[in-house]
Amino acid sequence: MSVTDLPPTVPVGGPSLPQERRLVSRIPGPRSEELLARKAAAVAAGVGHTVPIEAVAAGGGVVVDADGNSLIDLGSGIAVTTVGNAHPAVVAAVQAQVAQFTHTCFMISPYDAYVSVAEALNRLTPGDHAKKSALFNSGAEAVENAVKIARKYTGRSAVVAFDHAYHGRTNLTMALTAKSMPYKSGFGPFASEVYRAPVSYPFRDGLTGPEAARRAISLIEKQVGADNLAAVIIEPIQGEGGFIVPADGFLPAIVDWCRANDVVFIADEVQSGFGRTGAMFASELFGIVPDLVTTAKGIAAGLPLAAVTGRAEIMDASHAGGLGGTYGGNPIACAAALAAIDAFEHEGFVDRANDLGRILVDRLTALQSADPRIGEVRGRGAMVAAEFVDPATGEPDAALTAAVAKACIAEGVIVLTCGTYGNVIRFLPPLSIGDELLHEGLDVVAAALAAA
Ligand code: PMP
Repeated sequence: MSVTDLPPTVPVGGPSLPQERRLVSRIPGPRSEELLARKAAAVAAGVGHTVPIEAVAAGGGVVVDADGNSLIDLGSGIAVTTVGNAHPAVVAAVQAQVAQFTHTCFMISPYDAYVSVAEALNRLTPGDHAKKSALFNSGAEAVENAVKIARKYTGRSAVVAFDHAYHGRTNLTMALTAKSMPYKSGFGPFASEVYRAPVSYPFRDGLTGPEAARRAISLIEKQVGADNLAAVIIEPIQGEGGFIVPADGFLPAIVDWCRANDVVFIADEVQSGFGRTGAMFASELFGIVPDLVTTAKGIAAGLPLAAVTGRAEIMDASHAGGLGGTYGGNPIACAAALAAIDAFEHEGFVDRANDLGRILVDRLTALQSADPRIGEVRGRGAMVAAEFVDPATGEPDAALTAAVAKACIAEGVIVLTCGTYGNVIRFLPPLSIGDELLHEGLDVVAAALAAA
C-alpha cells in the first residue's frame, strides 16, 4: 500500500493521532503479513527488521500499522524522531521547501538552509570556540568525514576506537565498529590503521573513570603511539554497544590526553545528540568539549541528514572539493532540521527528555529491585536501558532479552535491544510521548519480563 492509495480509514500521522495502544489483530496482522512476504521476495535478506508490521502512520508516541493496530513507540526509529513523528512544524517546513526546490547540489549552487543548519550546529555544539560544519546524509558518512578531516589536519593516519563501539556499516565505520555479528562478519577486509582500546564499562569492569582512562591510554601509547595518531573517536554514551555510560572522569581524562598529544578528539553523538540525553549533546553531561562532533538521527526528525561540526582550524584543513557529496545537506532535509532545531529550542524537548528519563529509571529500578535478572538500569535523559543477566553468574542473558522484546512487540509496544552481548533493552521514546502512554508501555515490559 502506498500513501497515495491508503483507504480513508488510515489516519494521518502526527501528534493528533489517537494516543493509545490498540490491538485489533495479532502482530503481524494479515495486511502486514502481505507486505512482509513481498519484502522477503524483493528486498535483500541482509536488510532485517525488528517489528513485523507495515507502518502507515506515526506521531506523538505511537506507530499505526496497516491492520489498524496502534503500537506504543519506545524506539523512535532508533533515536531519530526525537521531536515526534510528523511534527507539524517539520511537515510544514518540508512541504514549503519541496515546492520551492528539491535539489541544486550545495557544491554547485549553495542555498540558505544548509548555511543556516551549519550556523545552528556551530552555535549549539559544546564549546564557544570558532566552529565550522559540513553536512552529509548519514551517521556513517559523517564519521568517515570526521576521520578524513582529522587525518588531513594532523597529517597522521591512525585512529583509535573503543570496545563496544558502533560507528556505522561503511568500510571505514565497520572497521571502527567493535561487534562482528551482524555488522562486520564476512564483510572484510576492513580499513587499516584502526586500533581498539578498552572503554569504561562500570557494570562489567568495576573500574573508576580515571583507572579506565589510564588503562586505555597505556594501550594507546604502547600499541599505537601518539605521534601516529590522528584521532580518538568515541560515543559519549555508547549506543548499539549497550547504552554504556562511562564512569565519571573517564572522558575528561581521554580528552586531556588528546589535547596534550595534538590528537583530534571526535565525539560521535549520532545517537546521543540532539536532546536525547537530557542535554543538547551528551558531551555536556561529562563536561567535555570535543574537537569534532558527528551528528545525524535526531537532527532532522527523520529526513536523512548528518554533520561534522568542530574547531574551525581543523574543519578548514581540507582543500576545496575534498569534502561533500551530491546530496549532502539536501535542502529538504535541511528545512526539516531547521524546524526540528527550532522545536528543540522552543518547545521544551530537552527538559522533556529528563522528565521521561525519570519515569523510565524509576519504573525500571523498581522492577530491578524485585527481579535480579535486571543487572543494571542505566542511561541519561530519555536514553535509558536495562541490562539482563543470569542472577547466579552475572553472565549476559541474551535469550531472556530477546524473549522480553519479542513479547513486548506482540503486545503492541516497540522496544529495541542492543549490546555487544545482545542482553540490553534500550528505551528511546519520542520526546512527544505522553506520560500515560510511557507508563502503559512499561507495564507491558514488566508483564513480559514476569512471564519470561
Ligand atoms: N554512530 C552512532 C553512534 C550510531 O548510533 C549510528 C547509527 N546507529 C551511526 C554512527 C551510523 O549512523 P547511520 O545509520 O545514519 O549511518
